[in-house]
Amino acid sequence: HAKSLGRNNFQFFTASMNDEAIRFFNLENRLRAALDQGELVLHYQPLVDLRQRAVVGMEALVRWNDPEQGMIAPGEFIPVAEETGLILPLGEWVLREAMRQNRVWQEQGYPLLPISVNLSPRQFRQRGLVETIRAILAETGQPARLLELEITEGALMQEVGETLSKLEELAAMGVRLTIDDFGTGYSSLSYLKRFPVHKLKVDQSFTRDLCEDREDAAIAAAIIGLAHSLELDILAEGVETAEQLSMLMGYGCHKFQGYYFSRPLAPSQTDTLFHPSSILEGATDWGLVASP
Ligand code: C2E
Ligand code: MG
Ligand code: MG
Ligand code: MG
Repeated sequence: HAKSLGRNNFQFFTASMNDEAIRFFNLENRLRAALDQGELVLHYQPLVDLRQRAVVGMEALVRWNDPEQGMIAPGEFIPVAEETGLILPLGEWVLREAMRQNRVWQEQGYPLLPISVNLSPRQFRQRGLVETIRAILAETGQPARLLELEITEGALMQEVGETLSKLEELAAMGVRLTIDDFGTGYSSLSYLKRFPVHKLKVDQSFTRDLCEDREDAAIAAAIIGLAHSLELDILAEGVETAEQLSMLMGYGCHKFQGYYFSRPLAPSQTDTLFHPSSILEGATDWGLVASP
């Protein structure tokens, strides 16, 4: 029956698809066009170190600036990109754009900061990733130490042998490696020891209910302790309140990212990105914040 209607009979095609599939199909095509037409943008969110009272990095976060719908969050389209393979050109664009932007900031005289870029599982497994990164760094004149890659536990635990050699190559280049959303996936602690990762990010789900939920507090404290024991850098995501900050400081975490300091912002808001909040310069002696 399908044959008699013709291969490209869209009516037939849509009639046989469920709503979810149609939405997916449309989104894939629109996303492909958006990538070609330059409708993707990066916003940046400062990472702060309260001991240094300074911004110590920025995370690049992709958005889709759709002419009709406005800004679309990555949660809406990254999964489609991942499933269709579009994540490969998209992810390469993100890497190049983030390194290009950092170069612009450097030329404007802002301090040298590493930029964190999220890598999806498929992107991380991609053959040629290391060469692509090397080429982008050379092209944009960025030293590898100013690139930090954020990878989730899930991506790292697939094909562990390949993961290890890829991480070792990247680390040998000087690229910094972070495990994102730590505590939500499943990691083998023994691999955590073997992988040349530099930093763990406490997932924001633990930060969110830290002050009300004893279990979330216990997990956050355990992750921070683990990072210290393994001599890994540790940062807590999703900090929105002074109470959360205080608890996390009490557990020994001094690096943060969250709306409390700044939302992700367009790169044109440079001054705010590099000086996100008076909290950093304020009189508060964070070292004396009571332990919970
Ligand atoms: P992520 O890498 O864990 O990024 C942190 C997310 O938390 C961002 O959401 C950020 O806007 C949000 N956030 C930061 N501070 C707070 C806070 O205080 N409270 C709350 N409630 N949220 C906060 P966003 O930008 O919507 O990104 C969501 C996820 O999409 C990212 O999670 C990352 O997994 C993915 N993503 C974003 N950009 C890229 C990209 O370029 N490539 C890939 N592969 N994934 C990306
Ligand atoms: Mg991230
Ligand atoms: Mg995260
Ligand atoms: Mg996340």
